Formats: sequence, C-alpha cells, structure tokens
Amino acid sequence: MFDIPPYVYTVLTALRDAGHEAYPVGGCVRDCLMGRAPADWDVCTAALPEQVEAVFAGQRSIRTGVKHGTVTVLWEGRPVEITTFRTDGPYRDNRHPDTVTFVSSLREDLARRDFTVNAMALDSDGSVIDPFGGRADLEAGRIRCVGEPKARFGEDALRILRALRFASKLDFTVEPDTARSAVEDRALLDNIARERVFSELKGILTGPGAGRVLRDYAPVIFQIIPELAGSEGFDQKNPHHIHDVWTHSTMAVDAAPPEPVLRLTMLLHDVGKPETFFTDEAGVGHFYGHAEKGAEMADGILRRLRCDNATRERVCLLIHYHAIQPPQTPKAMRRLLVKVGEETVRQLLDCWRADCADRADAVLAADIPWGTLIGTAERILEELSTEPAPCFSVKSLAVNGGDILALGLSPGPAVGKVLRALLEEVINGEIANEREALLTRAKALLADR
Ligand code: ATP
Ligand code: MG
Repeated sequence: MFDIPPYVYTVLTALRDAGHEAYPVGGCVRDCLMGRAPADWDVCTAALPEQVEAVFAGQRSIRTGVKHGTVTVLWEGRPVEITTFRTDGPYRDNRHPDTVTFVSSLREDLARRDFTVNAMALDSDGSVIDPFGGRADLEAGRIRCVGEPKARFGEDALRILRALRFASKLDFTVEPDTARSAVEDRALLDNIARERVFSELKGILTGPGAGRVLRDYAPVIFQIIPELAGSEGFDQKNPHHIHDVWTHSTMAVDAAPPEPVLRLTMLLHDVGKPETFFTDEAGVGHFYGHAEKGAEMADGILRRLRCDNATRERVCLLIHYHAIQPPQTPKAMRRLLVKVGEETVRQLLDCWRADCADRADAVLAADIPWGTLIGTAERILEELSTEPAPCFSVKSLAVNGGDILALGLSPGPAVGKVLRALLEEVINGEIANEREALLTRAKALLADR
C-alpha cells in the first residue's frame, strides 16, 4: 500500500541515521491509503531546520521557508519538503500565524494540520500514525477539521476553501460541524489574499465533485464571487431552461472537461443573465446581450481574483461566444475560425455541449435538438481540419513575415496586416495555402496600398 519511492526513502533514512525522527506525512499518506499515487511526498521531522541542512550538507537544499521550518532537499533532482514538527502561534489575520514554535512531538505537529485525512503520518514499521481518526474519515469519505472547526477556520480562513477543494477533488462529503462552520464563517474569506482564493477555486472547479460542492456551499462561493448570488433561484421563465440559472451553471461545470479554463467558463457563462433579463408579451423570458455582458463581468471578476491574463482572456472570449449558434456551414465555420482561432473553436464545442447537458429532450422536441447543431458544427470542423494543409492561423500560412519583408516592405504592423489578409483569403477558400500563390497575392496587395 505504501510504495515509498527510493528518493524519499533515502531522505528518511539519512535523517533517521542522524538520530532524528522523520515521517512521510499529510497528502502522501492520504493518497496511498486511497490507492492513489501521491503528487509529492512531504516529510516531517524532529530535526530543526539547521540540523536538516547539516544532514544534507552535500545535497542541494533550498531554504523554502526556514522561518516556518521547511527545507526543500533535491534528491536525484526531485524535491522533498522537510518540515520541522511545529505548532502555530496565535493568528491575528485569519491566515498567518504570528509565530511558529518548533516542538519535539509528532502528535503536536499533526494537531496543527487542517483535516483529519491530512493529519496522518507513516511510521518506519509501515503502520499509520493517526491520532485524530483520519483513517475512519477517509473510509467514510468525509472531510473533518482537526479540533474545533470554528477555531480552525478562525485561525486560517483559507481552510474553508481547502475543505471544499478536498470535498470536490476526493468526491467526499464534509462532516456536519465542519460544514456548518465553513458556511457560517465565510465572511472571514474577505481577509484572504485573492490569489490564494483563486487557486483554491480552480481546485474546487476541477474536481469530480465540483457541481455538488458548488450547490451545497453556494453561500461560500457567493462570498468570493458576489456577482453569482443573483443566479440562485433565478427563474428563466423560458421553456428551454428547466433549472434556475445557478443550478444550471453548476451542472454545466460538471459537464465540461475538468480543465480550469473550461470550468471557469461554465461557472461564469450566465453571470450576465439576471441583469439582461426581460419578459416578452407572452411572458417568456429573454436575455439579449447576456453573453457580452457576462464576458464583461467575468473580466472584472477574474481581474479581482488575480487570475493570470491568458486564462482570463480565454474565459472571457468563450463566454462572449457561448450563446451563438454553432456554425452550420463550412463558410460560417471558416468565419468563426478567422475570428477566434481553432483552439478556441474546439473549446467552444466543449462549452456548447456542457451548456445543454441539463436540457430535457422533451422540452426540445419542437426544435432542432441543440445536440444536432453541435454535432454538425463538429463534423464541419473535422472536415476542414483534414483538408490538405489546413490553415486557420497566420502561423500555418505557407509564407511568413520574413517573406513579406523580402518583398520590400519595411518592418512594422503592416507586415502582420498583409499576413492576416492572406489568411482570411485562404480560410475563405479564395486562394490556396501555397507559397507561390501567396507571394503573388502579397505582391498584388502591396501594389494596391
Ligand atoms: P495535494 O495533493 O492537493 O497537494 P496535500 O494534502 O499535500 O494535498 P498541501 O496543500 O500540499 O495539501 O499541504 C500539505 C499538508 O500540509 C496537508 O496535508 C496538511 O496536513 C498541511 N496543511 C496545508 N495547508 C494547511 C493549512 N492551511 N492549515 C493546516 N494545515 C495545512
Ligand atoms: Mg501537497
């Protein structure tokens, strides 16, 4: 069950041979007990950071957080985090302990850890050291705070989101006291750095339990993204939509491939609906412009959460286009490809599928089923991509910037403009993606300027 990799074993042995207690701890023990391969192996030890450095004097070690007792040793090129047993002093900012105190007992170290399933260590005889019932909680599929949930969330409010992240990632439930405190104390999340919040949010969204956790802990999610609160219970008064906007969004999250961009897109894709809602004379609800509005709101939300630019721009682009009809002709598909590029079109197909996953077929009987429209678009894209030398981006043109410069143009934005003009004609099927044809056409374009 515990297949300690040789590089970790060597690190443990080096510490033990120097007379220091040392144990694999936390996530790796949890993952092994669940039959999963741990992402990394953390070690805790009675040795003080200076002693750890002395043991590994011949190795490359990095003082990743000596103040908090962590030294990272690179063994055979792989990092092992070695952390001295410690307890955390008082927390004044709901996140960082004012002081940490190194201690000599493993039990005290396990007691400062967040959840019972993360508070187990592995003894040298292969037995599990489990003072807080982590193993039973693991078997029951349950996230439970070590100690009093209110106190633990008060110390470090990020643990509220960590609880949800583990519940989603491991597909676990949250023990009732822990769950109640997470919801009650959600306002403490306002004190946590936005990038930490965002990183946990991505973890929640990409786990197999994402949709369920979002629905069960909606108030916690609305604490970090208040713009979503209006979606809950929002009746769309439209026969195409059988769920309220929030429930629909959480189901769409589950239906999308588990990648941050796509799951963030589905979480936020309808955030513009409540603001753009109106009912017509027949009492049917509409949301004209909700995609553009949603893209604009998502941009603000993701900036506030310190999302990286590439992810933010991609999510906003997908939200902007999520409500268009999937292209039904090669020409319409080519036009979309010019506008957003092939990768985005492929992601849009995933979004369209996720967006209609909760629509009842019966409701759609009168329409062309949305799934058929998506299927047609997908088939057209495949046909276009299997054409000889498919070309949907400037990069795959048979000429490049250097070729255009060689025609006598001076460097500057005009070069890109010529390339894009060529691309558009290639995509529209007006000219072949062949070097000679493109050069001739480029000369003509330059002569026309
Ligand atoms: P993952 O597989 O996601 O990395 P992990 O359990 O290794 O899971 P980490 O965030 O890497 O999670 O943290 C390592 C260990 O440190 C945890 O298992 C837990 O024991 C402890 N820990 C981490 N963050 C906190 C925290 N905010 N409060 C208390 N203990 C924590
Ligand atoms: Mg880890």
